[in-house]
Formats: sequence, structure tokens, C-alpha cells
Amino acid sequence: MDKNKISAAIRNVPDFPKPGIQFKDITTLLLDADAFSQSIDFFCEEFEGSEIDVIVGIESRGFIFGSPLALRLGCPFAIARKPGKLPAETVAVEYELEYGTDKIEIHKDAIGPGDRALIIDDLIATGGTAKAVGQLVEKCGGEIASYAFLINLADLNGVDQLAPKPVFSVIDV
Ligand code: AMP
Repeated sequence: MDKNKISAAIRNVPDFPKPGIQFKDITTLLLDADAFSQSIDFFCEEFEGSEIDVIVGIESRGFIFGSPLALRLGCPFAIARKPGKLPAETVAVEYELEYGTDKIEIHKDAIGPGDRALIIDDLIATGGTAKAVGQLVEKCGGEIASYAFLINLADLNGVDQLAPKPVFSVIDV
């Protein structure tokens, strides 16, 4: 397992989607089967043997890393989606963006009372999205076991938003 290989497989796209943003493009990692597989190995190594009842993937790149991890750990996999995408009864949380607000939803029956959830996404920037998904888990009666990200944009201190819950990241940039 080689973190340098994973870092090298992530493409940095400057000024996307707007000037000043360094977009971390994981599509290049997905094209490298060994780097992709190793990224899942890092998550597995961290969470194998942990008390986790459900993995919650955040739309959309959290699905890519969360579903293979759920299969490897033998855990149910739930999805947190943008509004209006989930067909059955949902629970929603609204959260602040730089300009305006956004909303995220989960199926009400995806998380049972007391379920320990591992929340996963490709990247944490400000932490606002992950925090909202944590609130979704708690609204459903679950508990946050941990958050996990492939990439942590450490300068933005998003991890502070999620304290005191544990946060794992494969790569800090
Ligand atoms: P935040 O709520 O600020 O932590 O933003 C996290 C969400 O936005 C994740 O779903 C990321 O996929 C996406 N995101 C934010 N900043 C970037 C970035 N620089 N590169 C790639 N994705 C990003």
C-alpha cells in the first residue's frame, strides 16, 4: 500500500469549477485499478474490526469509495443524496454554503435506532457537507462512529467542524 501512488493518481485541476479552486479530480485514480484498489485497502485497514453497523456514502463520489468498502467489511450501505432523488420517505438536513444553502436527504429506514454509522466521501473541504450527513444520521436515531475521506484539504480545517467525532483521511494535502 503506497500513499504516494494514490496521491500521484489524483489529478489537480486549477480554477475548477471557479477561479481559485484547486479541484482534486479522482476520475484519474479510478482509471488506475491498482491505485483505486489500494485506496480501498487503506479504508479497510483502518475500519476492519471496528463496530460499524452501516456505511453512509455522500453523493456522488462517496458512493464510489463507500460501496466497495461496505462489501469488504460486510456492512449495509446507505446513500445520502441531493434533494428529490430518493423515492421513499426521507429525512432532510439543510446546510450553509458559501453563498446560500443546500439540502441533503437519506431514506428514513436506511439507519436503525442506535446504528453506528461510518460516513464516507472522497474529500473534505470546509466539512459542511459531512457535518450535515452526520446530522442526518442522528435525526434517524443513529450514532456517528467515524467520518472517512480519501482526501483532506487540511488548510480549510474542515475536521474541526466534525469534532469530537473521529475523522480518518488517507491523504492530507
Ligand atoms: P465541503 O462541504 O466544503 O467539505 O465540501 C465537500 C464536498 O464538495 C465533497 O463532496 C467534495 O467532493 C466536494 N469538493 C469540495 N471541494 C473540492 C475540491 N477542491 N476538489 C474536489 N471536490 C471538492
